[in-house]
Amino acid sequence: MRELTYSYDVVVVGAGPAGSMASYYASKNGAKTLLVEKSQEIGEPVRCAEAVPRLENFGIATDSSFVRNYIKGGYLIAPNGKRIVVKGGKTDGYIVERKIFDKYLAIRSARVGTNIAVKSRVIGLDHNGEGYDVIIKHLDEEYVVKAKVVIAADGVESSVAEMAGLKTKKNPKEICSCAEYEMVNAKLLDKNMMEFYFGDVSPKGYVWLFPKGDTVNVGLGVIDSKKKAIDYLNEFLENPILEGRLDKATPVEFKCGGAPVGGPIKKTVKDNLMVVGDAAGHISPLTGGGIYLSMDCGSIAGEVAAECVKKNEFSEECLMKYENRWKEKHYKNLMKDLKYKNILQKLNEDELNAIADAIDGDLEDIDLKKIAVKIIKKSPSLLKYFKDLI
Ligand SMILES: Cc1cc2nc3c(=O)[nH]c(=O)nc-3n(C[C@H](O)[C@H](O)[C@H](O)COP(=O)(O)OP(=O)(O)OC[C@H]3O[C@@H](n4cnc5c(N)ncnc54)[C@H](O)[C@@H]3O)c2cc1C
Repeated sequence: MRELTYSYDVVVVGAGPAGSMASYYASKNGAKTLLVEKSQEIGEPVRCAEAVPRLENFGIATDSSFVRNYIKGGYLIAPNGKRIVVKGGKTDGYIVERKIFDKYLAIRSARVGTNIAVKSRVIGLDHNGEGYDVIIKHLDEEYVVKAKVVIAADGVESSVAEMAGLKTKKNPKEICSCAEYEMVNAKLLDKNMMEFYFGDVSPKGYVWLFPKGDTVNVGLGVIDSKKKAIDYLNEFLENPILEGRLDKATPVEFKCGGAPVGGPIKKTVKDNLMVVGDAAGHISPLTGGGIYLSMDCGSIAGEVAAECVKKNEFSEECLMKYENRWKEKHYKNLMKDLKYKNILQKLNEDELNAIADAIDGDLEDIDLKKIAVKIIKKSPSLLKYFKDLI
């Protein structure tokens, strides 16, 4: 493949949202950039419930080729069936066709100059004193591509930064194991509202129903559970809490995958290398949503890579600007979400019901501190879980 015969300023590994945003900003700011993707088709296989934030914040047009539905909020549903309405804030966004969306982001990056190599797996990194020799396997041939900076955006499996000596492997107990059907003929509570179900239906996680226009993504994530995610999902389809709304639903697609919800990794840069997206733990430990963070941290990584190219300086110190910038913007919230997730995981069904009963009326976004104060007033026995939040 012609693209694999050149030398580059920046080689980005993985064409998910993190990699395509990183390569876009690296190219746009003048760096000669290669984006390498192991799949033969960018965006496949899909391992996602496809909820994305307001893309307008990234300067991305909401193109009708990938936007399937507008979402205005969600219902948080307790084991006893009590529904709490949340609107605005993080719940405001879109459900997209992720296989088209990911490809759209890669095309957008190519339009500003990124070269792309598909069906090309990075299998090794050798430091050559000035940068990396990136070893890439494409259709049984091995290629060596020179890079001054490598951006590892290789997702939850993340092996590339490990090849350079950075610790990115996740503890299996911190991976949320997910299964999902995309279904037709489902009856939804509201075609523009997501539904989240908590309790024994999905231990240490939750069930989601995300309306996607003609279809709905019905899935769940579990952590360290007795049964497989798919077994919980199949059971949930029969759960009386649904009041038969999925009785006539049938799947048109099955998706599964893992979300790394243990919080961000400690170190995301070293000489000539940065890590971003799921590979770096840029995903909310509470919700398992990672697209917004991957896109934002990917944008920062691409900008900083291009700045370092202009200075011809690729030391850890120079690339550290990336780590400082993403930490300043997102670290506090990621650690807060980690704390909330740990609380949520300890609650039994009675406690979840008590929390739901303590909340009157709708919520504007999810301000857990305010909610915690209300909960403790109504159910003082829950203070032990929430005292750190208030
Ligand atoms: C079931 C499920 C549902 C989810 N739902 C949502 C949701 O609704 N909303 C949300 O915001 N987040 C969701 N997430 C999380 C979200 O999908 C991820 O946070 C997001 O995809 C991370 O983007 P990324 O670019 O870091 O990694 P990825 O999207 O995983 O992309 C990594 C890319 O790297 C490629 N790659 C890996 N290794 C190599 C290699 N050696 N050489 C070349 N290429 C390589 C992979 O093929 C892949 O294309 C969900 C996750 C799961 C598992």
